[in-house]
Amino acid sequence: MLIKRRNFLQLMGLAALPVPTWAGQLFLKSQGEFIPLRNNVGIFTERGGTIAWLINQDGVAVVDTQFPENAKNCIDRIKEETSSPFKLLFNTHHHGDHSGGNIAFKGMVEKVIAHENSKANQERVAKDRNSEDTQLYPDTLFSDTLSQKLGNETVTLRYFGPAHTDGDAIIHFENANVVHMGDLVFNRRFPYIDKSSGASVQNWIKVLSKTRKTFDKDTIYVFGHSDNGYKITGTHEDLKAKEQFLKNLLKFVKKSKKAGKTLEQLVEQTQAIPGSPEWKGNGIQRPLGAAWEEIGG
Ligand SMILES: [Zn+2]
Repeated sequence: MLIKRRNFLQLMGLAALPVPTWAGQLFLKSQGEFIPLRNNVGIFTERGGTIAWLINQDGVAVVDTQFPENAKNCIDRIKEETSSPFKLLFNTHHHGDHSGGNIAFKGMVEKVIAHENSKANQERVAKDRNSEDTQLYPDTLFSDTLSQKLGNETVTLRYFGPAHTDGDAIIHFENANVVHMGDLVFNRRFPYIDKSSGASVQNWIKVLSKTRKTFDKDTIYVFGHSDNGYKITGTHEDLKAKEQFLKNLLKFVKKSKKAGKTLEQLVEQTQAIPGSPEWKGNGIQRPLGAAWEEIGG
């Protein structure tokens, strides 16, 4: 590998350059995957929640931003495709792996758009963590629905109530018929359920059901995260499976509580939620704990 690199540098007539940063960059190149989905809409995955992009003659729109260094890689990658200006930035919700890279778009986009609760959550968490100077907050907020036009595409945001947090936007690229679900779907992976930001398992089930009724069978859904071997995009069926997982979770925790178990015992003894064995990975304590808190008593 080293020999190859030296040969390459010599070949390029660059062997005499001060090597460290330049050569380093060769190998630190973005690991992000840039994947077109339909029309001019696609996704970028590197680290953190999936980014969606729209590129057309009038401009570029982006949904979610991962972390600052990944956002920068995504911006660079999009610039390889187009010279259109960056215009709109949307956040599905406030979590740092979705909005942490907003700062990379500072001064670059005309609007940063999110649900009103998402902005409030982002501000609260940033104040708590003393990280306000690294945030770019939304400046355009909505409560129920909001539409933005960009060239021949219309992007519509909807809010169906608390679920993963109390500020989850469902973002629809109407002509491409692609919907970014944010963290409303962790595809076959134990979800984080952010009770400190107003999450609700019971309402999450309703949100997914309403989503399936709102969009048609041709819709491509983009998910915030997926477990190894599972796709980061999907269909109605994946939403239905997630809905079923949440139903099974509530049922199981209710039953265990009734049987006199403690949360500690439940976490220790549970490998999978009965009825939803596909959901796995680390962190079963997160859904168990959230459901436990919600059921109360
Ligand atoms: Zn999240």
